[in-house]
Amino acid sequence: MTSCLFCKIIAGDIPAEKLYEDDRVLAFKDINALAPEHFLVIPKEHISTPNDADNAELMGELSLTATKIAKERGIAESGYRLVMNCNADGGQVVFHIHLHCLGGRKLTSPIG
Ligand code: 5GP
Ligand code: ZN
Repeated sequence: MTSCLFCKIIAGDIPAEKLYEDDRVLAFKDINALAPEHFLVIPKEHISTPNDADNAELMGELSLTATKIAKERGIAESGYRLVMNCNADGGQVVFHIHLHCLGGRKLTSPIG
């Protein structure tokens, strides 16, 4: 799906600050960081919204990859937040699913 921004990042057509990559997932820094640590973990397969996800192993891999990177980057003990937005009310702007990981400061507001 060439019109998708994150598919373009996967393809290398748009640069990103990559943190981790394997056959199935890619992690990179969010371009508009909302915390000292803010990165995204995405599947390499194009999945538009969480409503379209049906691969439990792949979804689990997004979470485990985020946790692994959080440990590597030293925010595991202080803590972090994992968020996946869905559609308009969830605030989803890029329609290729992505798990946000935010940390490095006290996240004051609860979700929403
Ligand atoms: P959403 O609101 O869809 O959950 O979040 C989309 C996220 O993608 C936002 O936090 C936004 O800053 C990030 N983003 C949008 N365009 C780019 C880009 O070209 N590169 C990177 N690294 N992040 C992006
Ligand atoms: Zn895509």
